[in-house]
Amino acid sequence: MAPAPLTPESSGTSTPTGSTATSLTKAGIKHMLPNTNGTDAEDGLARLDASSMKITLTQQPRAVPAPDSAETKAQKTCTDHMITARWTAESGWEAPELKPYGAFSIMPTASVLHYATECFEGLKLYRGYDGKLRLFRIARNCARMRQSAARIALPDFEPQELEKMIIALAAQDGAKWLPKERKGGFLYVRPTFIATEEALGVQRPKEALLYVIIACFPDMTRSLATPAPPALDGGANGGQGEEKKKGTSGLKLLASSEDTIRAWPGGFGYAKVGANYGPSLVAQGEARARGFDQVLWLFGKESFVTEAGASNFFVVIRSKQTGKLELITAPLNERIILEGVTRASVIDLAKERLAAKWDGLEPVEVVERRFTMDELIEAHKDGRFVEAFAAGTAFFIAPVGLIHFRGGDIDIPMDGDSGAYARTIKQWLVDIMYGNASHEWGIVVDEKA
Ligand SMILES: *Cc1c(COP(=O)(O)O)cnc(C)c1O
Repeated sequence: MAPAPLTPESSGTSTPTGSTATSLTKAGIKHMLPNTNGTDAEDGLARLDASSMKITLTQQPRAVPAPDSAETKAQKTCTDHMITARWTAESGWEAPELKPYGAFSIMPTASVLHYATECFEGLKLYRGYDGKLRLFRIARNCARMRQSAARIALPDFEPQELEKMIIALAAQDGAKWLPKERKGGFLYVRPTFIATEEALGVQRPKEALLYVIIACFPDMTRSLATPAPPALDGGANGGQGEEKKKGTSGLKLLASSEDTIRAWPGGFGYAKVGANYGPSLVAQGEARARGFDQVLWLFGKESFVTEAGASNFFVVIRSKQTGKLELITAPLNERIILEGVTRASVIDLAKERLAAKWDGLEPVEVVERRFTMDELIEAHKDGRFVEAFAAGTAFFIAPVGLIHFRGGDIDIPMDGDSGAYARTIKQWLVDIMYGNASHEWGIVVDEKA
């Protein structure tokens, strides 16, 4: 199947201020992706081809840590194998290799170590309540990886081939590392792409490495009542700060101040590139130190609300004008937020199932638009702020209980541990991910016994 051509343009308007820089990037990205119509490359370079994979199984299989062990919580343990694929400008893609998980060497001059030529993905491998192994909407992750790669001058590839590589690794290690008894459990899949060229010149890299690893992550689906999810960067902070959050309900968010901006128009906030995350860790660490779970990233003098940590952010608000409920999240067209797979799924499900009354829930209209902190404060004052939640693979659907902004707190209503919309949508997603409901988003992995 031919991949859709990658369109570097956003679907919406471009900002006048950033147009020159943006079009430079757009033109560059177009230039890098000349042969994406599914036919053989005219340049004669080999394409990424999962079917040519070389397989070397480990001679030293390791023990699987218990789901709630310190080892799992440390987020350092990966499964027995990994898949790597090397690319060079001279020959294109080499055959991918499935091989024992372990260190690889790159030169100290490697591009990634100096110029942040790195992007990644994060998705989960789920052990269903029906005993089957599943991935969730994996095509979206692979298409996004391709977009992210293009933004940092890494080579193009067929997203379906990355999909096959991920599925192959999940099939190889799934049965042992996420055994059938661990129903409701998951592993974390981390596709990564780095420029390995050994040259200090600031230029498009001529050598790169695409790899997939699968890590043991603490289980949060079992503690639905106390959402204290592991942070994406939990390792860097020496673990999660869930102890001090006991007794509180929902995530506590610290709104970013004007001197710290995560992403800006013409930048790369829409891409899952490592360069977005390192510089956010100071604010993240500061928020944790002050007893908050995550930073709520604002943008501009108007304090537009964008994302929460490495998750998208949703609010349910009763419209002042119409009196109707709206499920609002920041729009994609400015390209300052990451288009989450979870975000897309929340939007799709809400449009499909919440347009009319559902099981006692009042209908909500889904709105992707800019919204400001002032709007939230006003809604809160008027009693129109119904609920808020973060949505992402690492956090899943995490109800938000409090936002701290410029010295004041917005306490968000909770019905117990969650708002009703977050709870309902989360359950719908759980049902799809863990096979309670059959759905096209749940991709069953045919595991090796
Ligand atoms: C990964 C990520 C998300 C969530 O994306 P999902 O595909 O839902 O996991 C949201 N925002 C940022 C900044 C991210 O890095």
